[in-house]
Amino acid sequence: MTVAPQFQFRNGVLHAEDMPLTDLASQFGTPLYVYSRQALHDAWDAYRVASQGRDVLICYGMKANSNLAVLNEFKNLGSGFDIVSGGELARVLAIGGDASRVVFSGVGKQTWEMQAALKAGVKCFNVESEAELVRLAEVAQQMGVVAPVSLRVNPDVDAQTHPYISTGLKDNKFGIAIETALSVYQRAAALPSLNVVGVDCHIGSQITEVSPYLDALDKLIHLILTLDSHGITLKHLDLGGGIGIRYTNETLLSPSVLLSKVFQALDAHKLSHLQLVLEPGRSLVGNSGVLLTTVEYLKHSEAKNFAIVDAAMNDLLRPTLYGAWHDVEAVTPRNNTGTPPAYDIVGPICESGDWLARNRQLDLQQGDLLAIMSAGAYAFTMASQYNTRPRAAEVMVDGAQAQVVRPRESVQDLFITESVLK
Ligand SMILES: *Cc1c(COP(=O)(O)O)cnc(C)c1O
Repeated sequence: MTVAPQFQFRNGVLHAEDMPLTDLASQFGTPLYVYSRQALHDAWDAYRVASQGRDVLICYGMKANSNLAVLNEFKNLGSGFDIVSGGELARVLAIGGDASRVVFSGVGKQTWEMQAALKAGVKCFNVESEAELVRLAEVAQQMGVVAPVSLRVNPDVDAQTHPYISTGLKDNKFGIAIETALSVYQRAAALPSLNVVGVDCHIGSQITEVSPYLDALDKLIHLILTLDSHGITLKHLDLGGGIGIRYTNETLLSPSVLLSKVFQALDAHKLSHLQLVLEPGRSLVGNSGVLLTTVEYLKHSEAKNFAIVDAAMNDLLRPTLYGAWHDVEAVTPRNNTGTPPAYDIVGPICESGDWLARNRQLDLQQGDLLAIMSAGAYAFTMASQYNTRPRAAEVMVDGAQAQVVRPRESVQDLFITESVLK
């Protein structure tokens, strides 16, 4: 069993749904991102079932994987979107997405991005500072429209995750300190070009415990009741994203466990009329994808064994950036007995930080195909062209069919718009 139900071994070959990964590699080359359509649907279903009978809007946190094919699946399943840039808004509009189901997050929204979002008619701006609030009010006023706003409050809770993906602590750059939220809400309510509609938080990513959410929720409920007593009535509560996935053997927090606790807390405070908004990213796509790579060279030394593969930190930054663990599977494992050597799986990039996995016992030969698991989230979207490496192709599998949803870049693509001085 691998961590991802749609990526399983059949007759000794790792498959994506009904498609052998060996076929995809020979057809499309490596490195190659492979997504399972069914896995996207199953991940969505967990949220759908958990929300049944309640007013819940799921806004897919699309920075996890913003390929149009992925967005289109979620749109058709009824998802809204959590965007963090004008570029992401353009992607939503490109697939015919409904802007009234879009929330706009991010600490540094620029004027052109605010204008584009107002023109499109987004559901809400999640405002992260008083300065941004003032800017948004001005932009809306100049356009003669009213901007719907939530404040992203920082509840100062520890999400118990990697410091780089922890966002709800006092010393993070995100959100407005919850102690000052009342006065900022009062300022927002007094501005005629703003319409206060909600409250928002997003405390971090890869969260596997329910308690940080409930701690944040407690503080938000207290704020909502305080605002109400000051005549500011909210329509929705946005708890952000952050639910973790299984990269190896993590115990998981399921949407149903989280949501049942959230509904319980809302009901206990007579707040069941509030719409609940969620912004899951990783948990909708992370285990819906793998990164296929080929072993170029094996290098054995006294201290270490290296498997040098054709994927690198430019294709999957998470190990370099967070020291993250991704399972690695041989696509056609050998059944030799005995203990295989431990390899560091590294890329060709000229950085010692260019590694994908460390100390993995694998029986390898040059030319072998490996699958880096759980590469559906924060993989392609964090990819770069460092070392003038074209970004890899993306393929979506549906049953026994596969479609290229983004072709491999060519080397020429990388510098076609550059010029030497005249
Ligand atoms: C990144 C992000 C998300 C999605 O987070 P996941 O951990 O991938 O679920 C949601 N909301 C905001 C504001 C974000 O920045």
